[in-house]
Amino acid sequence: MSNSESGETTFAGLGIDDRVLRALSDVGYETPSPIQLATIPHMVEGRDVVGLAQTGTGKTAAFATPILSRIEESDAYPQALILTPTRELAIQVAEAFGKYSAHQPGVRVLPIYGGQSYGVQLAGLRRGAHIVVGTPGRVIDHLTRGTLNISKLRFVVLDEADEMLKMGFQEDVERVLSMAPRDRQSALFSATMPRAIREISKKYLRDPAEVTIKSTTKTSDTIHQRWVMVSHARKLDGLTRFLEVEPFDAMLIFVRTKQATDELAEKLRSRGFAATSLNGDIPQGVRERIVGDLRKGKIDILVATDVVARGLDVERISHVVNYDIPTDNDSYVHRIGRTGRAGRSGEALLFVTPRERRLLRSIERSTGQVIEETQVPTVDDVNTQRVAKFEEAITGNLGSPNVAMFRRLIEGYEREHDVCLADIAAALAVQTTDGGNFLLKPDPIDKGERRGDREFDDRGRGSRSRDGNDRGDRGDRGDRDRGKSGGDRRRGGNPNLATYRINVGRRQNVAPGAIVGALANEGGLNRGDFGYIDIRADHSLVELPADLSSEVFDALSDTRISGVKINLRVDDGSGEPSRGGGRGRPDRGGRKDDRDDRPKRKFRS
Ligand code: AMP
Repeated sequence: MSNSESGETTFAGLGIDDRVLRALSDVGYETPSPIQLATIPHMVEGRDVVGLAQTGTGKTAAFATPILSRIEESDAYPQALILTPTRELAIQVAEAFGKYSAHQPGVRVLPIYGGQSYGVQLAGLRRGAHIVVGTPGRVIDHLTRGTLNISKLRFVVLDEADEMLKMGFQEDVERVLSMAPRDRQSALFSATMPRAIREISKKYLRDPAEVTIKSTTKTSDTIHQRWVMVSHARKLDGLTRFLEVEPFDAMLIFVRTKQATDELAEKLRSRGFAATSLNGDIPQGVRERIVGDLRKGKIDILVATDVVARGLDVERISHVVNYDIPTDNDSYVHRIGRTGRAGRSGEALLFVTPRERRLLRSIERSTGQVIEETQVPTVDDVNTQRVAKFEEAITGNLGSPNVAMFRRLIEGYEREHDVCLADIAAALAVQTTDGGNFLLKPDPIDKGERRGDREFDDRGRGSRSRDGNDRGDRGDRGDRDRGKSGGDRRRGGNPNLATYRINVGRRQNVAPGAIVGALANEGGLNRGDFGYIDIRADHSLVELPADLSSEVFDALSDTRISGVKINLRVDDGSGEPSRGGGRGRPDRGGRKDDRDDRPKRKFRS
């Protein structure tokens, strides 16, 4: 393994092909994450791997880079098959393969998932794809139709295996594994290791290397740790609101890549915050000068990667912001350890997107500390702060030696123009500030009550109930997994869900997981979009978002489960299929008044 000058292990010594290395450098990864360090050497050697790792740890590159290093570019038949539980993940993994193969122009990656037309997928398969990334149901479909040939497969990866099982895909996954050539290489990644996963591993993998990232590092008591749920799209707004509202001395903001340090620093500067980036591409001498400036107070906001910030010891860092969640727990501990130095107290703030909830829990587990949840400051918070600063500036300037001179000028203006002093002062404020943007405009969602977080966290339609329970997403099963306590609060009370009826039930032997799996894939729904599922003799009732778009509704109506077309429609509570309203979609207004008469739910999905 090779080491960089700073003693960090680099990607270069892991056995990855040069072209892939170049691609990793292009995307700005400086050092391998722990799961990559532990997995890549085994995979490049051809050994099977079982990895205990969740989304956000860098597991995609852990399996993608060794596969790309060994792919035969000249043969455009499916050599690698990656199975993922959802279409979002299939697309994301395919995109990651695309990035890491940027210098292998001949390599073709094809995502195939439910909900996308067969035409596009068939054309892609006919053209030839080296790497196929798909959801189990759609992969089985293509295998059955004979449109996907996996007889020459060399690599199979099960990504988020526990999620696939929870979604009812065990049978499909096992079918694919038993159809793939025996001498293939397999890798299985899962955030948890229930018995069923262990059994699949025992049955279908050959002497796999088990990789897991353990961490027991403790964080300092002098650091106050908070986390905030922010959707990816609202991260920058969220950060600038904290920057405005939170008093800080110096702030260190962590992002994942070198490019991101420059991009974020630039965006902050364009919003009026003097931020500087610090990354491994900056020559050592310049880096030292930047850190010196931070120490002296010439710089207050530094945007950095893990590598360059390691060991940084600057007492005045009062805040560490994990703008991008770290890929491993140790890195979290190192990052926040940059504050609370020399006996001072420090503030650590962690941005978590809905998909990253598991990582948050993992950090909490490994540090043995509960991180306090906080909210993005609201428009009111920001505006109160702006007004306070405006008033402070007036008070401060009253002491200026120039006040007497301006006072004479203004008194003259007042006499001459007959304008009251308050109007003159207001006109001067307009002259010195950007009046139009002085106060933040209310967010549509922020209006009225403190619910800025609702838009900020973007956990899905109405995903946060008034009592603060989130419904979670694929990464967190929200109240569905929290069982009884979380559940009944939503039942009958979430105006965003409606009950739909589908034509499969006990007679077809369907399990809740199979329903969630099929509907999630065909309709592009998140797990958080599902409410209760009640499986009856010949049909089932499923709670889904009331405002399903017509495309999703149509896609779902045609979905088949256990070979039966489900014929989705709104349940009107009569026990008979609803005929009203054309396709039977619910009113946008949501639920009907007779919700409580609905049959009692038996399963949590
Ligand atoms: P994954 O767990 O594969 O979903 O990856 C989580 C995020 O980490 C993605 O945004 C990757 O682009 C990023 N990432 C993966 N490996 C590294 C690395 N070695 N350095 C920095 N970022 C990485």
